[in-house]
Amino acid sequence: ITKIAVLTSGGDSPGMNAAIRSVVRTCAYLKIACVGVYRGYQGMIEGDFKDMDARSVNNIINKGGTILKSARCDDFRTAEGRKQAHDQLLKANIDAFVVIGGDGSFTGAMIFNQEYDFPIIGIPGTIDNDIFGTTFTLGFDTALNTVVEAIDKIRDTASSHNRLFFVEVMGRDVGHIALNAGVGAGAEEILIPEENRGLERLLESLKRSKKSGKSSSIVIVAEGDKIGRNVFELKEYVEEHLPIYDVRVSVLGHMQRGGPPSCYDRVLASRMGVKAVESLLEGKTNLMVGVQDNKLILTPIEKAIKGHTKIDKELIRVSEIMTT
Ligand code: ATP
Repeated sequence: ITKIAVLTSGGDSPGMNAAIRSVVRTCAYLKIACVGVYRGYQGMIEGDFKDMDARSVNNIINKGGTILKSARCDDFRTAEGRKQAHDQLLKANIDAFVVIGGDGSFTGAMIFNQEYDFPIIGIPGTIDNDIFGTTFTLGFDTALNTVVEAIDKIRDTASSHNRLFFVEVMGRDVGHIALNAGVGAGAEEILIPEENRGLERLLESLKRSKKSGKSSSIVIVAEGDKIGRNVFELKEYVEEHLPIYDVRVSVLGHMQRGGPPSCYDRVLASRMGVKAVESLLEGKTNLMVGVQDNKLILTPIEKAIKGHTKIDKELIRVSEIMTT
């Protein structure tokens, strides 16, 4: 392997730039050529490449988003699209790629690898932390800090007006952001898809909380939670059944995906980039770099895609004790 490409694909997350920087600098260190692919698989199909050297990635470790841009690309889902991508890679003498993205991006890479025996390694970049084979995905830690900061601010206004706030956070089908940020921000209730305890329990808990003298309440709702159909319907339900509260809703939205990456995400991205390039040079392929017990590990990409992450039961218990 003499030339490696790097791309970001799917939804962006803080830490992607730090990972690009790491891949590029590792290639420079090992005297391998490196190419940046713009706009994910779309740019691969179009041959939108740029030669990268150690200086191309100056001053990006602290930036959210991705300098290479990201895209969703339907053409890459077709054999014809992937053939065009392969032709472009061959034309540019690229013989392996590192893809930073989520499970969709990994699925595309895996199919591409199977069709063309093309070496690929994945780096998990998503705030949702929903990828099997790693305890942390790039961007998760930053998103938690962003959510906690936002809830701290909401709490100031909530307690000034004795209000109940439902705060919806991202996380897709899993409750990792909600649970961790909920504990970190001292939420009264955390509603996650993994633990549906029903609306009755929520009402009971809110009643208890009011009786015990709490002036405000923050309920964190994971976007994938099914207890109410959505956070606004939850508000209506509580207003109807528990008129003692003045209820408000705050949907944090895309701010959770932006901002400078936390130190943890920068360090993790730097480590993962080195591991990805070194693994390719060792002849490894079709793997995802992950972290477990603070050690980097490689997981077959197929397992990473198909596996399910588990919610931290111990943390659920801690959150229950904290809301006493
Ligand atoms: P996020 O977790 O933020 O959604 P993701 O990587 O899962 O990130 P997707 O939109 O699912 O995001 O996938 C990104 C791109 O990967 C798609 O736009 C498409 O180009 C490619 N891709 C996804 N699934 C497949 C597939 N089954 N076959 C080929 N390519 C795919």
